[in-house]
Amino acid sequence: MATIKLTNTKTRRKEVFSPIDPTNVRMYVCGPTVYDRAHLGNARPVVVFDVLYRLLRHVYGADHVTYVRNFTDVDDKINAEALRRQGAGTPGTLEELIRGRTEETIAWYHADMDALGALRPDHEPRATEYIPQMVAMIEGLIASGHAYEAERHVLFRVRSYAGYGALSGRSIDDMIAGARVEVAPYKEDPMDFVLWKPSSAQEPGWDSPWGRGRPGWHIECSAMAQELFGPSFDIHAGGIDLQFPHHENEIAQSACAYPHGEFARVWLHNEMLQVEGKKMSKSLGNFFTVRDLLDQGVPGEVIRFVLLGTHYSKPMDWTAEKARQARETLSKWRDIVSGLEVSDRPYEEVVTSLGDDLNTADALSWLHTLAKSVAISGHGGPRFLASAQLLGLLRPEMGAWHKPPIVGRAGQSLEGVAQAAKGTVEWTLAGLSSHMANLQLESKKSKDFSALDRLKMQLRSAGVEVRMTKHTIELVPGPDFDPAKIEALK
Ligand code: AMP
Ligand code: ZN
Repeated sequence: MATIKLTNTKTRRKEVFSPIDPTNVRMYVCGPTVYDRAHLGNARPVVVFDVLYRLLRHVYGADHVTYVRNFTDVDDKINAEALRRQGAGTPGTLEELIRGRTEETIAWYHADMDALGALRPDHEPRATEYIPQMVAMIEGLIASGHAYEAERHVLFRVRSYAGYGALSGRSIDDMIAGARVEVAPYKEDPMDFVLWKPSSAQEPGWDSPWGRGRPGWHIECSAMAQELFGPSFDIHAGGIDLQFPHHENEIAQSACAYPHGEFARVWLHNEMLQVEGKKMSKSLGNFFTVRDLLDQGVPGEVIRFVLLGTHYSKPMDWTAEKARQARETLSKWRDIVSGLEVSDRPYEEVVTSLGDDLNTADALSWLHTLAKSVAISGHGGPRFLASAQLLGLLRPEMGAWHKPPIVGRAGQSLEGVAQAAKGTVEWTLAGLSSHMANLQLESKKSKDFSALDRLKMQLRSAGVEVRMTKHTIELVPGPDFDPAKIEALK
């Protein structure tokens, strides 16, 4: 069995991963708050931990891994958006508008993450479906002295849990100095955080022993993980921005509510994504959603490739140039594996790289080497394909963007092209490519390349990429391909 090592934020060490129950490896990833489209940064944990999910399934068997990623569908940002819509005249009660907004956002999220080739988790619990479990957990915390009610709020008593701060390596006093805590008169201590808060008539709320209200964000993940996994499970992951306070608070709640459990054994955090060297922000104009990129014609597979090009624990930069290179590489790789069956044995080098703390960058560089070797030797294609698919790349369902090149050889006549294709754009391109290959041969003899260059320019302006090799011409219709311009060339 391949060894997997993971850098555990909790211990700050790279450790050999050993699941509590190898027949049911359990991984929880904090999911999105569903009030708007996912931005490109949100896609990073999805893609990175999708590769981990694929690796775990490869090592332990597809039926022996359970992946949970929640939807936070109760949140002040959702309420604000629903209120805005109501203000703008959208019909419906506030409750209906909130429900409409979360449903719509979840459907967008699924469509966008599917486009990136991310497998759907086994469970996608919605916070609003686990309110009774949250209430029960909060009641238990009050009973054991770890939480208290104040002015219809329930707060977690941070100083009652000695391990607080261990995950992020901060002391309570450092955290207070960091001033990311909300000071409120009803709190015993500024560090104490909300488990439950009252709802106004305008806000979604549920009846509870503390009046009509709604849960705080942190208790959601603790209650859902407990319900679906029990008090101990293997991996908990999310972006580094969640380490404090979200994950620190999840640990405190769960450790105090279930003192005999371990909660998550391994904590993984992905670093942040930037765009062209700058933090993504609306004011800098470099903020975009996954859907924006897809709509601009950047294939989901290309986005995925770029996201996997940097190790998850390092900050990464999205650049247009990286996307261009990724597209070129994937296009070549898809040409290489065109028509091949996939093997069930990925190359060891790729499995080992992924097993070494999910080193996707290393795995990709192995894929480059292997692709070259397959292209030269003509051997190993099926295993190369299996290796790429372990990273969620080169899957058939993600290949619609890729058009295999139409190859023309000098001396090849149009009759050599399948008759069935006659009259189609492909047929015309095939004719042009063999014509060009002949022209290339003649130009070399006469040293006059003007006719060849002219044709090349015309094809490029029609959106066709022209790849010249020594003996062949490959024509690849690109995203801006305009068949009408080709017709004019005939
Ligand atoms: P949110 O909906 O803001 O809670 O974020 C959902 C997930 O995206 C969390 O795991 C965040 O840590 C992660 N995330 C948010 N912004 C970025 C970013 N710029 N780069 C990488 N991950 C991010
Ligand atoms: Zn969470």
